[in-house]
This record gives sequence, structure tokens and C-alpha cells, in this order.
Amino acid sequence: MKILVVGGVAGGASAAARIRRLDEEARIIIFERGEHVSYSNCALPYYLGGVVPKRESLVLMTPEAFKSRHDIEVRTQSEVISIDRAAKTVTVRTAGGEEYRESYDKLILAPGADPVLPRSIKGIDRKQVFTVRNVTDVGKIRDYMDAVGAKTAVVTGGGFIGIEVAENLSKAGLHVSIVEGLEQIMSPFDYDMVQYLHKELLDNGVDLYLSGMVSEITEKGVRFTQNEEEKEIPADLVVMCVGVSPASSLAQAAGLETNQRRFIRVNHNYQTSDPDIYAVGDAIESYNRLGCAYGNLALAGPAQRQARAAADHICGRTHNNRGYIGSSCLQVFGLNAACTGLSEKAAKARGIPCEIAYVLPSDKVSLMPGSSYLAFKLVFELPTGRILGAQATGRGDAVRRVDVIAALISMNGDLEDLKELELCYAPIYGTAKDVTNLAALVGLNVLYGDMPQVHVSEVRGLVESGAYIIDVREPGEYAAGHLKGAVNIPLSQFRNRIEEVPRDRPVYLHCRSSQRSYYALCELRGRGWRNAVNISGSFLGICLYEYFNDVTRGREPIVTAYNFN
Ligand SMILES: Cc1cc2nc3c(=O)[nH]c(=O)nc-3n(C[C@H](O)[C@H](O)[C@H](O)COP(=O)(O)OP(=O)(O)OC[C@H]3O[C@@H](n4cnc5c(N)ncnc54)[C@H](O)[C@@H]3O)c2cc1C
Repeated sequence: MKILVVGGVAGGASAAARIRRLDEEARIIIFERGEHVSYSNCALPYYLGGVVPKRESLVLMTPEAFKSRHDIEVRTQSEVISIDRAAKTVTVRTAGGEEYRESYDKLILAPGADPVLPRSIKGIDRKQVFTVRNVTDVGKIRDYMDAVGAKTAVVTGGGFIGIEVAENLSKAGLHVSIVEGLEQIMSPFDYDMVQYLHKELLDNGVDLYLSGMVSEITEKGVRFTQNEEEKEIPADLVVMCVGVSPASSLAQAAGLETNQRRFIRVNHNYQTSDPDIYAVGDAIESYNRLGCAYGNLALAGPAQRQARAAADHICGRTHNNRGYIGSSCLQVFGLNAACTGLSEKAAKARGIPCEIAYVLPSDKVSLMPGSSYLAFKLVFELPTGRILGAQATGRGDAVRRVDVIAALISMNGDLEDLKELELCYAPIYGTAKDVTNLAALVGLNVLYGDMPQVHVSEVRGLVESGAYIIDVREPGEYAAGHLKGAVNIPLSQFRNRIEEVPRDRPVYLHCRSSQRSYYALCELRGRGWRNAVNISGSFLGICLYEYFNDVTRGREPIVTAYNFN
């Protein structure tokens, strides 16, 4: 069997190596139009910041290593420019412009995605404008930074790649601004969860312009519109990170079926509309098992799993295609952020009835060095309690907590499963009741109707409308910063002062992180009050939610002072 592979990185290299493990006899050739195969796309931004000091260490395998280890032939700087499906051949163009044909029994397309460069932006072809997709790209950026002595950079787009590039350019000593078209960065996260990330960028000197539409790249900067105001910021360097589009033109030209957004359609076995041609990775449409709909996902793990599945099918094995749930993570300076499954907004947009549990517990026993709170949001289906998604941000191990939820989602777990989930504990790593277990308990209180709640996003409206809010923290905490208009009845005095709590109007309770306010709520409900509502996330959550918009919009704060401790 002769197998040709188009694209030699995450999907292509994985498929080729798997086929070799299953079939010693097959002839396998990888075509890669770039200079390198099997490089670490995900580590590219870290070369810009010096975390990965050497350019060559980004390349994980050379063509020579592929040949000697796996007997796989790799042809770099060789672009596959057409497919003749009837003759079962591809045409390849070399860097020198020569063209030749190569026949196949099976063809695997793993061409990835191309960074989007909006032609509507004036000056998009200027020499200081870059994208980040491969080793050559980051090499060019570093060379340019050094050559011109770059001091300022604008990153357009606040997705994973944009944020990682911005952080690394900042670590390289540049003054960095991010211009993002939406009202938040990192769209897989909910608006409430991303505010902590916005603050972290601000605290680290990165200027973040949200709802900003870039119109022009000038000789010295970037022009954009934000809230109908024209702005221009200086930029020696501009990195466009506004998304990717599937590299599917080869497939389309060969008449393979694609969807409206040009992603290649594949079946359960990753076969395209031609059964002898498979496709995997960023270029394909894949199934979102939570949303029960086709979507697409530009992540390395799924690309490698798809590649293995396609290789298995070529070699006569079966596999179980379960679609994707979407799990990802990133670091933003001192913060770790991770998400899996559906966000609250994505679940609601799909018409799935859902609720959330939002907790801010300590990520390890608070006596332990480096202990800090973790903002953790769990999204679950109503009325079943099935877990739909989770997001976490914090200085501690956000990724491990979200991975726990990813595993549970993959097994259709619900809140009761998560409550009972037995996880590792030692004080240096976590708390006996892990953040994830705690979120399940809060979620069950909500699900079973034991704890009416409002979210941090609703608090501004409550304060502005003069709602009755009780702060149950101790007087010293209240004095250090509180919600404007909130009445202080500390938990330690609550039982004696309970008659001060009105019965004829909704009463909203909060403390620092919602634990004490939950105790107060239980007391009230136990003694006949039916009008008490917990503010999920409490004062810490409110401060994190409000801060960035207050500072950047010059908005009147609803707190007398912020407290992030
Ligand atoms: C900067 C950056 C950071 C990332 N960080 C993460 C991360 O932290 N976590 C994560 O999960 N994912 C991350 N990703 C995404 C991840 O790298 C991709 O989802 C994954 O590489 C997709 O695999 P693929 O095989 O589909 O495409 P790729 O790995 O992009 O490989 C496609 C290759 O095909 C080649 N090619 C295209 N057309 C042809 C042709 N006609 N002929 C020959 N060769 C061709 C291209 O040159 C390219 O090298 C990141 C991506 C980037 C760019």
C-alpha cells in the first residue's frame, strides 16, 4: 500500500507514524510545503518571549529522523497543488518550481489552517505585519524585532494565539497593546470568567482595547475604531491573530465535499466524500457531542486523535468516533486559565436549559505557601444536573480542575457523580473538599432549590436599583471595602440580629466568597424567611467582575474599595 500525507505537523506526522506502527510494508510519503515538519506549533509564541531560547528546538523531528526511525519519506518545501482522484495521483510543486506526480492508494489530508489576513484593513501588506503559524513565521518576527529595535507591538485578536503572543512580546520587553473586536478576549470563556484575565493583562502593563475594529496599519501604528471613537496607537510591529481559515482549497478543487465555511466534511472514519481520501485536523468539520452539531476545533490533541483514527481505519482497524467536547488552557502572566465543554453562553445559545455554580475557594490549604483562590464555574443542565462545561482562572492549578470535569463530561457525568468523585488530596496540592467537589455541592444546592442565587453580572443592577443587600463579613472586612448601600450584619452576630432582616422584599446576601453567606441563607430559610438570595461569587467575584470595566471605561464603581485578597 502506498500512502501519501499532505501536511507534516500535528495531524500529518501522527497519521504517518501510526500507519508505520501498524504496517511495516506500506510506503509512506509526507509532503510539507514549509521548511519543517513535526514542529511544536503550540510552543511558537514562547520563542518570541525567550522561554524557548533556540529556534531550532521548536523542531521536534527532522526528515532524516523520520526516515531512520520510521522509514517514512518526508519531502519538505513540497506543496501538493492538485489531486487527480480518477487517476489517484497528486501533483507536487517543489521550492524550485518543478512539478511532478505521485500516485497513491490512500491519501491523507492534514493541511491545517491559514491565519486570516483581512484584506479590508489598509496597509495589511506592510513589512511590519506578521502572522504566527510556523517556525519560519516566528523566526521572521524575532529577526525583525532585533533589526528595527522594536519597542512597541500591537496584537490584533485576543484568542489563544493572540494572548500568548502578547504575553511573550511583553516578556521580551516590548510595550504591547491588544485590539480585540469582541467585548472580551478568549471567546470560549464566559464574559464573567474572562474579567480576571482582562485584569491580569492590565496589571502587567498590556493595553487591552476591546470592541476595537482595526481599519488601517500605518507606517508607525495601528488605527482602529472603539465605541465609535477613532484611535491610533504606536506599533513597530503588528501581529495579526484574528483567527484561521481551513486550508481546504486543495480538497475543494478536487471536488471533495466541504461545508459552508469551507471545512472538509468527513464521516465517522475521517474519510472525505472520496473513500480513498481521509482528512484530519484543523481543516475538517468535526462533531460537537455536547452541542449535538457539527463544528470545528483548532486544537492539537483532537488533530492527533483524528490522525490515529484515520490511520487505524486505513489499516483495517475500527475506532469509536465520539466527537469533541473542546478542552483548552492557557497562561496569562501569573494566571492559569482553562475551559472545557460548553460555556454558559454556548449552552444558552443552543437552547439547552442550564444553571451555573460559581465558587472562589482556596486552591490549596490556605496555610500552604502560594495558596490563592481559584475562580471556578461549572455549567450544568436543568433539570438533570448533567455537567456541560467548566471554566477556571487563578494562580493555582486551574488546568487539573478543568481536566477532571473534561473526564466527567466524556462519561456523561452529573453533579452527583462529581460530588462523589474521590480526588487526591494533600494540603500542598488542594483541599480535602476539592474545588470541583465544592462546585458540585453548590450546583446541587441550586438544582434542588436549596439556594436561590443571582450572579455577579446582576449585582450592579441590584446596587443601582437600591436592592436590600446584606454583607455578612466581619466589620473589619466591610470597612476595607464593600458594596455601596450594603448593610453589614456579620455572620458572628447574625443569629442575634436576624430580626433586622426584612421579610417583605428580596434580600441578597454575600460574604467574601459565598460560603458564609450560604450559612446565613440557611439560617434565614430555616427560620422562615423565603426571600433570601445568595450572590454567587460574593465580594471577591464582584470585584473581579467589575474592576476592568470600571478602570478602562472610567465607570462609577459599585464598591467603596476593591478587594482581591
Ligand atoms: C501559535 C500556535 C499556538 C497553538 N497552541 C496550541 C495549544 O496550546 N494547544 C492546542 O491544543 N493547540 C494549539 N494550537 C493549534 C494546533 O497547533 C493545531 O490545532 C494543530 O497543529 C492542527 O494540526 P493540523 O495537522 O491540522 O495542522 P498543522 O499542524 O498546522 O499542519 C498543517 C501543515 O500542512 C502544511 N500544508 C498545508 N497545505 C499543504 C499542501 N498543499 N502541501 C503540503 N503541505 C501543506 C502546512 O504548511 C502545515 O505545516 C496552536 C497553534 C498555533 C499556530
